[in-house]
Amino acid sequence: MTLRSLPDRKPFLTAALALVTLAALAAAAISAEPRAKDLFGAKTLPPVAPAQSFGFYSKGCFTGGVALPMDGPAWEVMRPSRNRRWGHPAMIALIEKLARDAQADGWPGLLVGDVSQPRGGPMMTGHASHQIGLDADIWLTPMPRRPLTFAERETMSATLMVNGKTHLVKDALWTPAHTRLLKRAASYPEVERILVNPGIKKKLCDTVSGDRSWLRKIRPFWGHDYHFHMRIGCQPGSPGCKAQEATPGDDGCGKPLAWWFTEEPWRPNKNPDAPKARDLMTMANLPRECQAVLAAPDAPSLAAVTYQGGGGAAVAVAEPAEPAETISDSNAVLPAAASAFAPTPKIGIPVPRPRPGN
Ligand SMILES: [Zn+2]
Repeated sequence: MTLRSLPDRKPFLTAALALVTLAALAAAAISAEPRAKDLFGAKTLPPVAPAQSFGFYSKGCFTGGVALPMDGPAWEVMRPSRNRRWGHPAMIALIEKLARDAQADGWPGLLVGDVSQPRGGPMMTGHASHQIGLDADIWLTPMPRRPLTFAERETMSATLMVNGKTHLVKDALWTPAHTRLLKRAASYPEVERILVNPGIKKKLCDTVSGDRSWLRKIRPFWGHDYHFHMRIGCQPGSPGCKAQEATPGDDGCGKPLAWWFTEEPWRPNKNPDAPKARDLMTMANLPRECQAVLAAPDAPSLAAVTYQGGGGAAVAVAEPAEPAETISDSNAVLPAAASAFAPTPKIGIPVPRPRPGN
C-alpha cells in the first residue's frame, strides 16, 4: 500500500471498520445470553405433558405442571399476580390434602404462597429454590373466615411470627394450632423437609412432647418467619430429578440449632450487591432437558392444566397432547390428553397474569 493510494482506500477501511464493530456487537449480544429467569418468568402456562422434574430444587425446571385452583374449601392462593401456583401434580395434590387435614385439625384453612412458575426454573424475584415444582410456601396466618378478594390477596400483609432481634417466636402469636399444622405437614412421607425460621424450630424443640420424631424434618433457615416451606422428594417418573441429602436422624434441637442463636449467622453480608445465582443462570447452567421444557407448546387453556384432585384422588399424569384448539368455555370437551383435569369452576377472580417486568 502506498501513501498515495491511502485516501482512495479510506472508504473501504471505514466500511471494514464498521463491519468489525458490527461483528463485535454481535459477539457481545451472543455472550449476553438471555437469563434463564427471564425465559422461564415469561411463561404463563405449562405444556400438557407427563409430569417430570429436571435437576435440583435450586437449579432446574419441570414439565407437566398443574395449577392449584385459586380457591378450595380449605385454601386460598395468595399473591395471585405472581402466577406461581404451579407444581408437580403430587405437590399440588399434597397441598390440597394438607388443607383438608389441617382444617380437620382445627386450622381454618391454608393461605398458600409461592409454589413454582408454570415450568419452574429460576424466578425474577425471591426464592433460590422452588424450581422443580416440589416446593411450596404456606403462610403461618390462618385463612380468614370470609373469602379474600383478589386485591386483598395481593396486598394483605403476613404476620411476622418471630422477633427480628431476638430471633425468638412472639409468644403472643404462637398457638398449639401452629404446632399441629407443622406436625401434620411433616407427617406425610413424601415431605422431606420443612424450612422454618430458627425461632420457630426452637419453639417446637422447647414445647413438643410425646412423639418428637417429626422434628427431624423441621429445618431452621433464614427468613421463613411468616410462612413455612414444604419440600417433597423427587417423584416417580423423574429420573433426572436430583434428590437432596437426607436430614440427620435426630430431632435437630441440639448444637446445629444453637448455632442459629449466635451472632455468626446474622452478620451483615459483606457484599450485599453480589449477584445471586438465580440472577445469573443461563440455559447452559440448567439441565439440558430444560431447553425442551421451555420450547414445548402451551397447554390449550388454563383449565386444561388446573388440578382438580378432589378427595385426594390419585395423581393424574397426562399424556403429551397435540396442540389443540382453544377451549372457549368450561363446558367444552377437553382434549383427551388433558381429561385427567376437570375445568376450573368459575370463581369470579381474574386469571393471574404474568408478573410485569420491574
Ligand atoms: Zn419457599
